[in-house]
Amino acid sequence: ASPVVPSEVSNALEVLTRVFGYDSFRGSQQEIIDHLIGGGDALVLMPTGGGKSLCYQIPALVRDGVGVVISPLIALMQDQVDALQAVGVRAGFLNSTQDSYQRREVETAFVEGKLDLLYLAPERLKLDATMRLLDRGEVSLFAIDEAHCVAQWGHDFRPDYLELSALHERWPDVPRIALTATATDATRQEIATRLQLVEARHFVSSFDRPNIQYRIASKKEPKRQLLELLRSEHAGDAGIVYCLSRASVEKTADFLVENGIPALPYHAGLDSRTRARNQSRFLREDGLIMVATIAFGMGIDKPDVRFVVHLDLPKSVEGYYQETGRAGRDGLPSTAWLAYGLQDVVQQRRMIDTSEGDDAYRRRLGIHLDAMLALCETVECRRGQLLAYFGQPVDAGQACGNCDTCLTPPESWDGTVAAQKLLSAVYRLRRERGQKFGAGQIVDILLGKTTDKVRQHGHDSLTVFGKGTELKDLEWRGVVRQLLAQQLLGVEGDYGTLVLTDASSQVLFESRQVRLRREPERPARAARTSKP
Ligand code: ADP
Ligand code: ZN
Repeated sequence: ASPVVPSEVSNALEVLTRVFGYDSFRGSQQEIIDHLIGGGDALVLMPTGGGKSLCYQIPALVRDGVGVVISPLIALMQDQVDALQAVGVRAGFLNSTQDSYQRREVETAFVEGKLDLLYLAPERLKLDATMRLLDRGEVSLFAIDEAHCVAQWGHDFRPDYLELSALHERWPDVPRIALTATATDATRQEIATRLQLVEARHFVSSFDRPNIQYRIASKKEPKRQLLELLRSEHAGDAGIVYCLSRASVEKTADFLVENGIPALPYHAGLDSRTRARNQSRFLREDGLIMVATIAFGMGIDKPDVRFVVHLDLPKSVEGYYQETGRAGRDGLPSTAWLAYGLQDVVQQRRMIDTSEGDDAYRRRLGIHLDAMLALCETVECRRGQLLAYFGQPVDAGQACGNCDTCLTPPESWDGTVAAQKLLSAVYRLRRERGQKFGAGQIVDILLGKTTDKVRQHGHDSLTVFGKGTELKDLEWRGVVRQLLAQQLLGVEGDYGTLVLTDASSQVLFESRQVRLRREPERPARAARTSKP
């Protein structure tokens, strides 16, 4: 790599102001851009909204040739190219949505050097024709956007990304920059290895999003809780509500509309025209709520998303971070609110058990889920936990003051006796009757409820029957959930039957202590700090 010549560096700043209309670089943008202009490879980890695009757009404008951007976000290419063309950048894209005439036009512009930036869908790189096309023009750099898609065990894995190592083999002298907003240390190493970015300099920005207020509440009547949140804190605001299933997306969107709140659905079951229309309405109109599965949102650049709500538990902390990161790109106060309950844990464990893939894969999913549960059940600062997860630990005692646990510190209590009662109910059913039941039945037994199902199975004659009346139904469910999260209890099968784990016996027979988080009577309605 040749050293950066000063005129090129001043060029970068000049491009920033003249083309993009900004006065100064943000964070490590300048360093990254200089490094790339100088011909170096880079691996960039920057949170959503951090300003990744300029990191390759400006070098592409400064260096000779065309910057080739690999992006999985086909649906957004048109928007990205339009936005660039609007500020006078010569940009084009090649993907499967075009007819051959449109493609040929872009190809010709590329070969003749009449483009600054060319966006490519990853699957096009498999085509020999694309490789030959790239040979015929001059490539100034390769930018690999959403680089975590190459991580095989990540939640956004795209097989086509594995082919991207070919870029380096075929064009060893063209600098490459891989960018992502989600990567733990392990994923970062995987990206570097798979994309053959061994020599690349890593630029890791802080993952803190101080303007996002993280809150995780226990799920009671999720739609009602959502409505209250929207009415009391986010009236008229734009936001995203994530649900796990298509059906709950539809139901939740209908529910909001019935209650006078403008909402649109988005999920893979809608035809592509409806999806595109809803997406563009969300981007262009004010105060709309997108109720969506996680199919929605990657690459969406809407600065004033004021809240991101999860009505179901995300599968991983990476997913949670990425999805909540879509709030508050403009830096103004925003809310990330997640409702989670026992049923989420049961459902996700079942999905893992029944998922396709080998044992290692399922174990991996389990580890992801456990990390997510730990975040939900923590009595410490949520932000501190999130940052620690991404390998950026904060000093102990450095509470952020802008998450629910900081604003209303949860109490913890000694749940050892409660845990023993609950586990022994599970144990006795299994040992004495050879039976397994779900949380509902176990809790009814502890509460001494003589329901039909209790009578039918003769569970009122168990020694633990009625031995748990010191806690209410909902509190017991909280205990079950937390024991599941702490892996002191397991769940299996289609009916979410509770089973003991290896660690259960430590509580039952070795007087292991169990600390539990107290369920607040009313979920904290956290005061908003003035912190930006
Ligand atoms: P990312 O891809 O990291 O999520 P973007 O590249 O979309 O982020 O940038 C997020 C927003 O910040 C965009 O609206 C972009 O124009 C703006 N932005 C980026 N860099 C700067 C800068 N140096 N000064 C002002 N605004 C910037
Ligand atoms: Zn905090």
